[in-house]
Amino acid sequence: MPVINKHYLTKSRFTLLFLIMISFFIISVNAEAKKLFFDKHKKIVVLDPGHGGHDRGAHGPEGTYEKTVTLTLARMIATELGDKYRVFLIRTDDYQLDISERTSLANHQKADLFISIHTGGSFLHQAGGMTVYYYKEILQKKLLRETADKGKLKNSYDLIPWDDLQKRHKPASKTLAKLMEHHLNEKIKYIETGIEGMPLIVLSGVDMPAILIEIGYLTNPLEEKKMLDAKVLADLTKAISNGIDDFLLKKQ
Ligand SMILES: [Zn+2]
Repeated sequence: MPVINKHYLTKSRFTLLFLIMISFFIISVNAEAKKLFFDKHKKIVVLDPGHGGHDRGAHGPEGTYEKTVTLTLARMIATELGDKYRVFLIRTDDYQLDISERTSLANHQKADLFISIHTGGSFLHQAGGMTVYYYKEILQKKLLRETADKGKLKNSYDLIPWDDLQKRHKPASKTLAKLMEHHLNEKIKYIETGIEGMPLIVLSGVDMPAILIEIGYLTNPLEEKKMLDAKVLADLTKAISNGIDDFLLKKQ
């Protein structure tokens, strides 16, 4: 039997182990770098669940709050979209944010689209229906920017009235609204989805294609029931996700 130097064996084993460890390290660093690269080039979707905290929004005859429905649905859409896009939720839990905070958070993401989720509310129980809104300015009323103190103005956004930021995305926002209307009507059959241009403040300062979806009237007993139905929420999730896919694919 050949005589093997024990010391040599230990040393070569150590070298082999070291090389294996280095290889794993290089592979994992490479995978991480690739992930970062692809994440950086992913489209960014911003979802804004309406209301929150002491601002409960509309509430239904059964006691359902709008803030709860909007957060549930936004979370479901984020899960459905998975890691296809970088998805950013403006509100992740039950707390209050004012409109300027929502707008700033959205613009900070430099996202590819913005969807604010709400329900309708009316004193008339029979009022109902689903609507996709895009921003449409009115001539009589000029929306004021939220920042009163000009001395604190830091970026170029502050030099442009807030409604101008959304105005320049109007054609894209309208396209997004039309696609969303189509997908909602395709998937949701119990209610009609319409489309409308409105001077909504939550959309006015958003510097990207933006819409607001009112997923029915919470004050309507039938529509409240539907908003609590897991199958309906799943269909809404699918329809809105399809609308997002459709818009972002067309945009490329
Ligand atoms: Zn609302």
